[in-house]
Amino acid sequence: MKKTIYLDNAATTKTAPEVVEAMLPYFTEFYGNASSIYRLGAQSLQAVTAARDVIAASIGADSSEIYFTAGGSEADNWALKAAAEAYRQKGRHIITSKIEHHAVLHTCEYLEKSGFEITYLDVDECGLISPEELEEAIRPDTILISVMFANNEIGTIEPIEEIGRIARAHSVLFHTDAVQAYGQVPIDVDKLNIDMLSASAHKMNGPKGIGFLYIRKGVKIRSFVHGGAQERKRRAGTENVTGIVGFAKAAELSMASMEERIERETGLRDYLIARIEKEIPFSRLNGHRTLRLPNNVNFCFRFIEGESLLIKLDMQGICASSGSACTSGSLDPSHVLLAIGLEHEIAHGSLRLTLGPETTKEELDQTVEALKEIVKQLRGMSPLYEDFIKNKNSELQEESHVQ
Ligand SMILES: *Cc1c(COP(=O)(O)O)cnc(C)c1O
Repeated sequence: MKKTIYLDNAATTKTAPEVVEAMLPYFTEFYGNASSIYRLGAQSLQAVTAARDVIAASIGADSSEIYFTAGGSEADNWALKAAAEAYRQKGRHIITSKIEHHAVLHTCEYLEKSGFEITYLDVDECGLISPEELEEAIRPDTILISVMFANNEIGTIEPIEEIGRIARAHSVLFHTDAVQAYGQVPIDVDKLNIDMLSASAHKMNGPKGIGFLYIRKGVKIRSFVHGGAQERKRRAGTENVTGIVGFAKAAELSMASMEERIERETGLRDYLIARIEKEIPFSRLNGHRTLRLPNNVNFCFRFIEGESLLIKLDMQGICASSGSACTSGSLDPSHVLLAIGLEHEIAHGSLRLTLGPETTKEELDQTVEALKEIVKQLRGMSPLYEDFIKNKNSELQEESHVQ
């Protein structure tokens, strides 16, 4: 069995060894309930408090504005549902984009059923929303704008600073799903006028099942889970102390290495993009070339079915994805690729390769070689490709006759 080449870091990441090490004592030694009076409990509470400080500092927030959740999906659900409920007297209109993660889109559909009206902004061929269109969509009854920081499929980074400025100027709350961006690019909630922000540990080398929602002081927001007094009575449930400790360790590591990592991964990303564009015919890069996460590569290969590509890559030990992990298993093409204007057939032949801190140039070289071979093989079996080449050749012949 070949060594695994893991290029699916947008789906989840390997937990960093330092993170695992930081978590271990909270399973075995400091296992107290953070709400208990005795010292064993106080030690857990101390760890949670310290972790909250680290995470707050990483986005320029105050510790009292960080609420731990069970991950990114919960944070997105909370932000949208609780803001909708708290502000429904003011209005029932919410603005989002067509390329959000399903945690946002399906929550919006749920809110539509309970009387809210949602505007889904279009994106251009690179996946960017238009700030002008956003501003035009704002109405007197608009209570919330939710636009993701960076897209999980095509890596495009949205104009967050402009969106924040517009939201603030119209006194509308601004939530951003930063699950893909947090830990990858610098984020300052004050500079960007962000009122709520969702993040998740397992997308940045932390453990699974822990995330946070940042809620700016002064924002009216309802409790999401009712029960005990944890998370300032907003989200009940015994603290996930090990997860919280691991999340903070992952945040600490990613903040310390961010600059160097961005430079390294951007270099590798652009190297991979250049090789694929040069060496695989009829390929198309999806997403913006520069306003893009440092670790994201997404291509369409014409006449290829994404699922077959993934299976053949897997046989060579290469982990990648087609569309998003959450939609694989369904035959619908990705809503993101359709929103950037791709035809159904072409959208089916997409491949996402997402790099991590351990990704090497050698691994990318091996991946390109495997990909070239597989694409050739699959096209060799495709009647569409055969017709296409025949037509193309006869066109060329006709042209040469004319001359
Ligand atoms: C992964 C992801 C989520 C969901 O986060 P979980 O922690 O897996 O629930 C939400 N939004 C985006 C953009 C993501 O990539």
